[in-house]
Amino acid sequence: MSETSIFTRILNGEIPSEIVAETENAFAIRDVAPKAPVHLLVIPKTEQYRNVVELAAGDPDLLAELVGLANAVAAESGAGDFRLVFNTGPGAGQTVFHVHAHVMSGDLDEAGLGG
Ligand code: 5GP
Repeated sequence: MSETSIFTRILNGEIPSEIVAETENAFAIRDVAPKAPVHLLVIPKTEQYRNVVELAAGDPDLLAELVGLANAVAAESGAGDFRLVFNTGPGAGQTVFHVHAHVMSGDLDEAGLGG
């Protein structure tokens, strides 16, 4: 059995991080090390899916809920347009194996994320 993920520990209040938005099955927090002017993470409350491929295969409705929450938090941040990134596997930079999407917006060129 693997350890409880850092995001579940945040959801449970064991690690401090403000939950900025929430739906029935997902929640959003600010990334602790932002790489864009707006950098949020949207995360399913369950940690049973390690990455977006598993989530899409196992619960497409939950994936859609995650995308909807990403859209809502991007709109609330005032930026509107946003980039949605699911790092998938260590070789692509994934470090937390509880599926989550990075929601990045603001001036992405300025942040070195243009293109
Ligand atoms: P990954 O590298 O798996 O795609 O993304 C994990 C993200 O979680 C990283 O961008 C990292 O900064 C963020 N992160 C890791 N630990 C914490 C934490 O304790 N609190 C918050 N708010 N973000 C975290």
